[in-house]
Amino acid sequence: MNCNVLPIAAGLLTLGIGASMSRGESSEESIQFTPVAMKVMKPPIAVKGSDGRFHVVYELKLANASPITCNLERLAVLTGDGKEIATYVGEKLAAITSLLGGRDPVSVIGAHQMAVVWMHLSFAPGSVPKQIEHELTIGSEKGTITEKGGESEVSDDVITLGPPLEGERWVAVDSCCESLTHRRALMGLNGHLYLAQRFAIDWEQLNDQHRTSSGDLQKVESYSCYGKRVFAVADAEVVAAVDEFQNQVPGGLPGKLPPEEIDGNHIILKLANGPFALYAHLKPGSLRVKSGQRVKRGEVIAQVGNTGNTSAPHLHFHVMSRPSALGSNGIPYVIDAFEVTGIVPSIDTYNKMEDEGGVVPVNALPEPRACVDELPMQLSVVHFPTIGE
Ligand SMILES: [Zn+2]
Repeated sequence: MNCNVLPIAAGLLTLGIGASMSRGESSEESIQFTPVAMKVMKPPIAVKGSDGRFHVVYELKLANASPITCNLERLAVLTGDGKEIATYVGEKLAAITSLLGGRDPVSVIGAHQMAVVWMHLSFAPGSVPKQIEHELTIGSEKGTITEKGGESEVSDDVITLGPPLEGERWVAVDSCCESLTHRRALMGLNGHLYLAQRFAIDWEQLNDQHRTSSGDLQKVESYSCYGKRVFAVADAEVVAAVDEFQNQVPGGLPGKLPPEEIDGNHIILKLANGPFALYAHLKPGSLRVKSGQRVKRGEVIAQVGNTGNTSAPHLHFHVMSRPSALGSNGIPYVIDAFEVTGIVPSIDTYNKMEDEGGVVPVNALPEPRACVDELPMQLSVVHFPTIGE
């Protein structure tokens, strides 16, 4: 071996040039300055939704590491073998892109700024790619450049749970996959960026007139879901059980709360193999479990309430990577048995009718859809099986 080769090769590696290169050969990979670095923040897990399709939800971080302003013109998602599976151009791309820490659409990333693309891909069964990467076209004063990056694996390792509630006409509010409230709740906590609520659902219940409440809108007891039983979704260990907050008066959010009060009365269960389930905004005095205790699937653990950062009674439920309601990574799950009986067509109409105590329009399905191992999708009207005493 020529003893000069090693230091030269080591120097070239720091420039990202192929390891197989030796002195005198040319690089197989050309080097190009690219203003925006792309990174998938957490590798996604594909989940089957109650629409029968598989959903892949993740955030693509765009870091403009240059002093030039970048116009986002086109983003394509490619499979590992280079096949284009989704394309976003112009306004369609802006609609799913926000500056880091924001939720509003943007089409431009300024010099040294960062942005997030809120990705949601959906696939017919059997067609979810195992690998993805991204191709971004940027316009700038220097011209147009197209670059590749943001490689990631796509896992299908999804968790199966039982229902957290029972009975008819539960609406999956702000569920997967494009609601602004939960989906875009990316926040900096303890020196990390977390999106705990990526797959969160706010469960609210319609009465037989399809209203969320009847009577005084400022009384928690007027709401159909208030006081309904909440169940352990799996055999699990209770790692948090907080029952110290009073109900908020429905009709508006309570104003800025410290982080430890946002979830109000809540329970966190440690599921088998590590992830955690959060039940938030529970009824004061309704918690039947204590931290450290084990629970069985289907066991009543509390009742639906209106404590914490909430404007009307509901159950906020999500699954996460760590036992921290906000400081964790939200992960998808499926529920093993429920029916979808209809869909509420518009979140804006839903919110308005809830605020007014009006009739929520529901597009009933011709036949209830029996869902096995699926995630209830945004604004599905769900019938959960009755659970005994
Ligand atoms: Zn929520």
